[in-house]
Amino acid sequence: MASESRQLPDNGLTTLDPMRIHAIPVSAALDDPGREYRASEPDVPLRCCLRKSLPGEPVWLFRYAPPAGKGPYAELGPVFTHVNCSTIPQFDNLPVELLNNTRILRSYNAAGQIHSGQTVEPGSFNSTIEELLNDPTVEQLQIRSLSHGCYLFGISRS
Ligand SMILES: [Zn+2]
Repeated sequence: MASESRQLPDNGLTTLDPMRIHAIPVSAALDDPGREYRASEPDVPLRCCLRKSLPGEPVWLFRYAPPAGKGPYAELGPVFTHVNCSTIPQFDNLPVELLNNTRILRSYNAAGQIHSGQTVEPGSFNSTIEELLNDPTVEQLQIRSLSHGCYLFGISRS
């Protein structure tokens, strides 16, 4: 990793620089004419409010291209959101419900190219994210599932 030799401050593991979490608005589902309606799809990661779905919650399954990747690095993949979402996610705190498994953390530069990719274990997200955001060449991060590679949410400096 490019910034491995960088010295983190003493409080680096507990205090994150201001960051911005990027969720997906439910309106994004309407951009995909191939979206699928599911009346109930329990326990899928919802990209609108950044938690797992409950039984009986109607959701959209649709194709979405996270904004960090550009040109050849733009990727289209499946995501779930509520059909109607009334919860505004916290934009300055990591969504713990989506971080209780090993995840892929990808970083992108300002040109939208992949800068690095790594797996991160629960308990190491804060330190890894802080280290990456301290690298001035990193513009945005993506959290993805390990098993399917699906995009969960984005992180940038606030
Ligand atoms: Zn939601």
